[in-house]
Amino acid sequence: MIMSELTFEQLPLSAPIQRALIEKGYTTPSPIQALAIPVLLEGRDLVACAQTGTGKTAAFALPLLHNMSERPRKTFRRGVRHLVLTPTRELAGQVAESFKVYGKYVSFRAGMVYGGVSEKPQIKELFLGLDVLVACPGRLLDLMNQGHVDLSQVETFILDEADRMLDMGFIRDIQKIESKLPKQRHTLLFSATMAPEIAKLGQTMLNNPEEIRIAPQGTTAEKVEQSVCFVDKKAKQSRMLQLLESRSKDQPNELSLIFTRTKHGAKNLARKLEQEGYKADSIHGNKSQSAREKTLDRYRRGDLDILVATDVASRGIDVKNITLVVNFDLPMEPDAYVHRIGRTARAGESGHAVSFCSADEVALLRQVEKLISKSVPVDTDHDYHDQAAMELHQSNRHVKKPPQGGGGGQRSGGQRSGGNRPRGSGQRPGGGGQRPGGGGGGRNSRPSNRSRNRGA
Ligand code: AMP
Repeated sequence: MIMSELTFEQLPLSAPIQRALIEKGYTTPSPIQALAIPVLLEGRDLVACAQTGTGKTAAFALPLLHNMSERPRKTFRRGVRHLVLTPTRELAGQVAESFKVYGKYVSFRAGMVYGGVSEKPQIKELFLGLDVLVACPGRLLDLMNQGHVDLSQVETFILDEADRMLDMGFIRDIQKIESKLPKQRHTLLFSATMAPEIAKLGQTMLNNPEEIRIAPQGTTAEKVEQSVCFVDKKAKQSRMLQLLESRSKDQPNELSLIFTRTKHGAKNLARKLEQEGYKADSIHGNKSQSAREKTLDRYRRGDLDILVATDVASRGIDVKNITLVVNFDLPMEPDAYVHRIGRTARAGESGHAVSFCSADEVALLRQVEKLISKSVPVDTDHDYHDQAAMELHQSNRHVKKPPQGGGGGQRSGGQRSGGNRPRGSGQRPGGGGQRPGGGGGGRNSRPSNRSRNRGA
């Protein structure tokens, strides 16, 4: 995880919480924590676009625990002070565990409510009243309907992973639960995406919220099997074809997404792939919005196997079965790498991300590795391996970034609306030693003359 330049000590969190953080070994807040904690301590409502792995649990748990340690209140029969809704039992467990760890030196009562197990122990826990209840919507509603829980004095209402809750069909349940909460309360909504339904939910349930957006961080990248191929610029197309050839044998009917730095690069590569018999098309800044939408629809429906895109056009590519992302060109901004490879391995599926790195892109690869705090495994098992580029990467020699191309390099770092943004996120040094040879998604492929007939 990339950390901010703040330290926890600088945040006005009470001593018992600071002590637990020290014990846990946390010194610096993650970007979402640095942005959200001050907002929540002020008592503002919040909409945060952030994924699991960004440290969002502590972002809301620490201010709540601070509140409980500074203003302890007696629990009352069946009452709940702070309510967290989560889509799954697993997430409920993780959230409750985080409260326990961060609140080790705070006196409070926490409980969980979720389906698939006996109601009895949950009813017993609710009876005495809770400071924090972490609940899945379905079971909570059942228990509410039976009169086992009183939400009339809830101070804080948190919707965690709101997009997943909507996907899982919990919208009605959430609305019913919300209708039982006092109007005067503090509401927080966390979601990995800001789909229109989520924005609508935010509008109806939140009061003039602060908005925070955090780009997927390095942890997202960890779910994707990454590799880098050092190739000469002129050999990139040949390597691309070889990679697709090996893939069409391994994984038919799965989608590939290729990123280029320039609009022309995207157009030319898509044309070349079409000539080779692939169902490919491109989206880039020179295409109108409606033309992009049409192409995206064809891709979503599976009428296209391959989409070639520039970063600017890649926003909104939320297609489920992309199993290969290729960085035909490395992005100018390292954040874009994480954003790009996050297009694969969505919804728990597996995904590969292969990057092509020519000698003039070594500086770009280094900055990616610094951002994700690890080196990308090298795939040398192909016909176009450029040993000199790899050695340049492994050396300590200073290399310049290539000049900015036409289409690429979109920034996607953490941003908070309304200014007051703490200074950028200090990056942990990392990257460093490249593993020589092997590793990664090395497919054992050689060009073949196998004819393709993929309905161009
Ligand atoms: P989350 O996004 O809340 O699921 O957190 C992801 C992981 O990051 C969890 O394992 C946390 O324990 C860890 N974590 C959260 N905040 C920090 C921090 N400030 N420093 C180090 N690790 C953290």
